[in-house]
Amino acid sequence: MIEVTVPLQEGREYPVLVGPDARKKVESYLPERTQRVAVITQQNIDVDLHLGINNQIFAIPNGEEAKNLHTIESLCSSFSRWGLTRNDCIVGLGGGVVTDVAGFAAASYHRGVPVIHIPTSLLGQIDASIGGKTGVNLPEGKNLVGAFWQPTAVLCDTSTLKTLPERELLSGYGEMAKYHFLGSGDLDGLELDEKIAKCIEIKAQVVASDEKEAGVRAILNYGHTLGHALETVEQYDLRHGEAIAIGLIFAAELAHKLGRIDGNRVEEHRSVVSQYGLSCTLPKGIEPNVIIEVMMRDKKAIDGLTFVLDGPSGVEVVGDIEPSVVKEILNHMDQS
Ligand code: NAD
Repeated sequence: MIEVTVPLQEGREYPVLVGPDARKKVESYLPERTQRVAVITQQNIDVDLHLGINNQIFAIPNGEEAKNLHTIESLCSSFSRWGLTRNDCIVGLGGGVVTDVAGFAAASYHRGVPVIHIPTSLLGQIDASIGGKTGVNLPEGKNLVGAFWQPTAVLCDTSTLKTLPERELLSGYGEMAKYHFLGSGDLDGLELDEKIAKCIEIKAQVVASDEKEAGVRAILNYGHTLGHALETVEQYDLRHGEAIAIGLIFAAELAHKLGRIDGNRVEEHRSVVSQYGLSCTLPKGIEPNVIIEVMMRDKKAIDGLTFVLDGPSGVEVVGDIEPSVVKEILNHMDQS
């Protein structure tokens, strides 16, 4: 079992445990006064947590559509009927949808209840459950309502990944590929739990320096500007990590065009993304103009676009990029 500490501001911190059966250690991480544990999960997740304490399962529907305020209201009403108090604990057991919902319900119910995340998707383990961002979607857009609410602990149980559908695993690898360029270096050859722990360490360092996303945390969005636009135009046919993988290749090509990195570094991006079994090409039929329009709208760009780009001093935010340069890169990228 690997333990990573996520430092927070004002000397606070929380532990992240990574390894097989980590979920079964949850009882030892509960705050001392806990009398009840509300486990928020989904139907297809293994809920065996070896909990000796009074607990109840609250299953939410599957999919991004369930990440809404109605789900939060219905959970909070159920907690209230059951008698959950601020001295108890909420556990989010599932992928990013579950931990985002569980985190926000915990931040809101009785003005804040401790939460422990047990992420069961690869994306949840290396990204969604770490950093304290919680929230739900509105019909107007994704993640528009939420709160920063740091967990008491995060238990990344690698045994749960055995039942994760192949495409979801691949989606997690898209985020993992990103960390290669944020300082993890080559993860090839490491055991899966070591790879996961390395990604968490990097996210933890970045989050520690910018707990409430005022600046440097933006580098975690490497590959995401194009990635989000692709997700939007493909109407979520692409899984998040698949879109990010393509976004990484685009970002490398753009950085090269701007003279920030050389051709070898672009090749390194291709090799890392391919190593994880992900595609480096745009989906067939993508229209550069449509993609640029979506990116301009998302970022409310006036003069130019902002991207997170690799460069001589590492990955950083670069603004005022001409849409014509972006279009040229998109036109040159293969489609398949
Ligand atoms: P998800 O939570 O929808 O999970 C994908 C599917 O896999 C679901 O059907 C789920 O039930 C199933 N699943 C999960 N674990 C399983 C397991 N062990 N066995 C079998 N099935 C399993 O998707 P995701 O990719 O994990 O998370 C995406 C969400 O995370 C998005 O809503 C995104 O906005 C959010 N997110 C949040 C942050 C953050 O910082 N808060 C960061 C990244 C992503």
